Amino acid sequence: MLVVMRQNASPEEIRGVVAAIEARGFKAHPIPGAQRTAIGITGNRGAVDAPVFESLPGVLEVIPVTHAYKLVSREVKTEDSVVLIGGVPVGGPGLVVAAGPCAVESYDQMLTVARRVKQAGGHLLRGGAFKPRTSPYSFQGLGEEGLRILAAAREETGLPVVTEALDAEGIDLIERYADCIQIGARNMQNFSLLKRAGKAKKPVLLKRGLAATLEEFLMSAEYVLSEGNYDVVLCERGVRTFSDFSRNTLDLAVVPAVKAASHLPILVDPSHGTGRRDKVSPLSRAAVAVGADGLIVEVHHDPNTALSDGPQSITPDMFDQLLRDLRQIAPVIGRQLNAAR
Ligand code: PEP
Ligand code: MN
Repeated sequence: MLVVMRQNASPEEIRGVVAAIEARGFKAHPIPGAQRTAIGITGNRGAVDAPVFESLPGVLEVIPVTHAYKLVSREVKTEDSVVLIGGVPVGGPGLVVAAGPCAVESYDQMLTVARRVKQAGGHLLRGGAFKPRTSPYSFQGLGEEGLRILAAAREETGLPVVTEALDAEGIDLIERYADCIQIGARNMQNFSLLKRAGKAKKPVLLKRGLAATLEEFLMSAEYVLSEGNYDVVLCERGVRTFSDFSRNTLDLAVVPAVKAASHLPILVDPSHGTGRRDKVSPLSRAAVAVGADGLIVEVHHDPNTALSDGPQSITPDMFDQLLRDLRQIAPVIGRQLNAAR
């Protein structure tokens, strides 16, 4: 259920509605918009008694939300959300590019790549300190040491850091060291982790599960918002299909589908989406053309020696060229790359 306030509703009237919602044991989620504030109601088991709220001062109307997901839906908020990651806007008219190695391997490796990402005009740094690997014998990441290295890379370049948490302790650490908590594809339906991310003070980058439907993807985002963290960025990273020429199939059709269903921004990850270096730039260009709010790309200065995902990592030179291409493509669809930091 959604309580839509009148355009000129006062803060006091908004507080009054929130109090009335909470007095009934429900949770109130005020969502300020450009035109008016709406207040989402969650936590109700049955129907909400709409007339009770309709009669409160400042209320325009009370409308049911038809989808299973509520706070993430366009019904609740018609304008696109802009999520700030360390001050960098994700969503809105500008496009954002996050880039860096799959895993933080060493100080020298991370700083070498970070400098090139910065030089090329990238906006955010990526790099995993906790790696979800298929094999327990593969490199698992440097852990807290990796987070310290990422913090040093941010210090030098000024680029905010996005990095993955595999568990609640990882979120505690990332809250201290980094700017955005990545929830990986394998954890998209780790509901206790999503609830913890919903209590975090940092934005969340939620990657689509390997076989997740649009509704499941949005319901996972709903977990985070329902706990009070509204700063969620979605990420399409490819789904499992019968494809025998790529690691996954990048489902670019989900971008306009997400845009229709939700106000949340969505990035595309062409690296995991294809698994092949030669396909990363073409699919990045397509992602921008299809309306994604930006990209998250794996870049390594020496991909052949990378400790994870070398075959899908592009070189810094390829990354330079990619950003030049994106600067040309973006204006065709009325957008532009955010200014370099
Ligand atoms: C990653 O970004 O390095 C990663 C492991 O991604 P995904 O969860 O999409 O596989
Ligand atoms: Mn990777």
